[in-house]
Amino acid sequence: MACINNENAATASEGRDGLDFNPYDIMEPRLPGKTPQDMKNGAPVKQHDIEPQGVYQPDYNMLTPHMRSPEYVQMSTAAAITLGVTQGRMYRCSCTRCLNLLLTYPEGCRANCAYCGLARHREAERDYADRNFIRVDWPAVPMDVVVDKVASDGAESPFHRMCISMITHPRSDEDTVAVLKKWTSRIDPETIPVSILSNPTTMGRKDVQQLKDLGADIFTVALDAATPELFDRTRGKGVQSPHKWDKYWEVLEDARDIFGPEKFGVHLIAGMGETEFDMLNVMQQVVDIGGHNHMFSFFPEAGSLMDHLPATPRDQWRRVQLGRYLIDYCGANVKHMKFDENGRVSHFGIPAAELEDIIQSGLAFRTSGCPGKVAEDVSACDRPYGDSPPSDIASYPFAPDKKDIKKIRKQLGIPNRLV
Ligand code: SF4
Repeated sequence: MACINNENAATASEGRDGLDFNPYDIMEPRLPGKTPQDMKNGAPVKQHDIEPQGVYQPDYNMLTPHMRSPEYVQMSTAAAITLGVTQGRMYRCSCTRCLNLLLTYPEGCRANCAYCGLARHREAERDYADRNFIRVDWPAVPMDVVVDKVASDGAESPFHRMCISMITHPRSDEDTVAVLKKWTSRIDPETIPVSILSNPTTMGRKDVQQLKDLGADIFTVALDAATPELFDRTRGKGVQSPHKWDKYWEVLEDARDIFGPEKFGVHLIAGMGETEFDMLNVMQQVVDIGGHNHMFSFFPEAGSLMDHLPATPRDQWRRVQLGRYLIDYCGANVKHMKFDENGRVSHFGIPAAELEDIIQSGLAFRTSGCPGKVAEDVSACDRPYGDSPPSDIASYPFAPDKKDIKKIRKQLGIPNRLV
């Protein structure tokens, strides 16, 4: 199972030069190289044009079949194990509660985000369907098989939510609609609600409205970078990628108007060069307009333009993870928090006894994402080991136990109880 990856990248207990955070200056992505003409736009896959035979398990030693959405979708290894189309076991988890479906095309994603395993520059070395993404392989499965399997489980389905991840591709808007329609024609969205992880670059307000009208429950925007400067460096001009900060906010505001409070939100990646203040400040802005924040820890994805950079040091990560939970679910406000000269949190702005209870509950340190059937602050989308190896967990895909909490407290620099 791919969650126990044999990777070279060590998780950081501290950052480069002994720093306990990843500063902007060192988090510079590599520039994308030149792609040979005969590797562009999925040319090898289209040239061989191999007909797919059912489920495709990523294997870059064989010719990749020609698969396209909406007939095919990819899904995380965890989702494929839970759906029963891949064999494997996950460390300390029996299954995942979110069926995350990723649109797939031989041309792949046409954006070039520096931290992402799916980025366009990788067409020089690996076919799209074989690329690692958030540390794992993504098997490709016929959409009919997905729907048949989930529909046959009915109310007994292990999945609490389905999510369609759009990518930057000219057909992405249309095919998201097709995948959503296929799902809702067989599966009641009241039983398994649907989230959309959108691609604002190709979308307008009417696309957002259409997804809502077709039964989508939650709409999210993967802002990923916490500031406009960092966004441009990692997802825009800096890496020959088409995304624009203002466009992402425009679509987020459309989602606020159309999906309404608590039904829209953003994805953010901590530790790419922003300060802790930057991160908590942007999350406060999202909460102030009625949305939620789903945050992940930066991990240097093999093959990405940031694979030479340090993972987020654990103490930086734990501070923003705790800050996010306080802002999203406990009524805390960045205005009342205190920060040092490097923008690191020095006080969370709530009474010590309250903070103590929240730390001990462990909820703040679980994977963040759209809710499932357990509680509003427990994500269905638990993405096991998407942002760290199991040996040093960043986002816990399960409730942390006493030993985990002890480790978290040490990482936060508060090993002893506050009260
Ligand atoms: S748009 Fe999304 S899938 Fe495409 S490269 Fe950027 S982060 Fe990856």
